[in-house]
Amino acid sequence: MLVVMRQDATAEQLNGVVAAIEARGLQAHAIPGAERTAIGITGNQGPLEPAIFESLPGVLEAIRVSHPYKLVSREVKREDSVVRIGGVPIGGGELVVIGGPCAVESREQTLTVARGIKAAGGHILRGGAFKPRTSPYAFQGLGEEGLRILAQAREETGLPIVTEAVDMESLELVERYADAIQIGARNMQNFALLKRAGKAKKPILLKRGMSATLEEFLMSAEYVVSQGNYDVILCERGVRTFSDYSRNTLDLTIVPAVKQISHLPILVDPSHGTGRRDKVAPLSRAAVAVGADGVIIEVHHDPDRALSDGPQSIKPEAFAALVGELRKVAGAVGRRL
Ligand code: PEP
Ligand code: MN
Repeated sequence: MLVVMRQDATAEQLNGVVAAIEARGLQAHAIPGAERTAIGITGNQGPLEPAIFESLPGVLEAIRVSHPYKLVSREVKREDSVVRIGGVPIGGGELVVIGGPCAVESREQTLTVARGIKAAGGHILRGGAFKPRTSPYAFQGLGEEGLRILAQAREETGLPIVTEAVDMESLELVERYADAIQIGARNMQNFALLKRAGKAKKPILLKRGMSATLEEFLMSAEYVVSQGNYDVILCERGVRTFSDYSRNTLDLTIVPAVKQISHLPILVDPSHGTGRRDKVAPLSRAAVAVGADGVIIEVHHDPDRALSDGPQSIKPEAFAALVGELRKVAGAVGRRL
């Protein structure tokens, strides 16, 4: 249920509605908008009667929300949400370009790549300190040492950092060091982790599970938002199909689909989406053209010697060229970069 307040409703009337919702043992989520404030209600097991809320002072109307996802839906908030990572806005007119290595391997490697990202005009640095690897024998990441290296790279370049948390323990650490917490594809339905992410004081970059439907993806975002963390950025990173020429199939169709039904920003990761270095630039251009709020790209100065995801990593020079190409596409679709 969504309670829409009148434009001239006072703060006292808003508090009255919140109190009436909480008195029923339900949760109230005030969602300020450009024209009016709405209050999302969650926690009800069955349908609520709109009349209960429509009789309260300051209320314009109470509407049933038809989707299973409530707080992330456009029914509840019409305007696009803008989420900030460090000082960088994501989801407004400006596009964001995130770049960095798949994994933090060493101080030298991370700083070299970070300088390249900064020089190219990238806005945010990525890099995994905790790596969810298919093989237990593959490089698992440097852990907290990796987070310290990322913090040094931020110190030197001024770029905010986003890095993945793979479990409760790493989330505590990532929350302390990073500007945004990535929840990876393999954890998209780790509901305990999502609930904890909903209590975090940092934005969440939520990647789509490799077989997740749009509804499942948005329900995972709803887990985070329902716990009070409204700063969620979605990320399409490719899904499993029968394709035998790419690591995954980058499902760009999900971008306009998300835009239609959710106010959350959505990024595209063409690195994991394709798995092939030569496909990263064309799919990045396509992502911007289709309306994504930005891209997240794996960059390594020596990709053939990378400890993870080398085949899909591009060099800093290629990243710089790509930023220039994306600037042109951005202009063509009414965005800025
Ligand atoms: C990554 O960003 O390096 C990563 C592991 O991504 P995903 O969860 O999309 O596979
Ligand atoms: Mn990777």
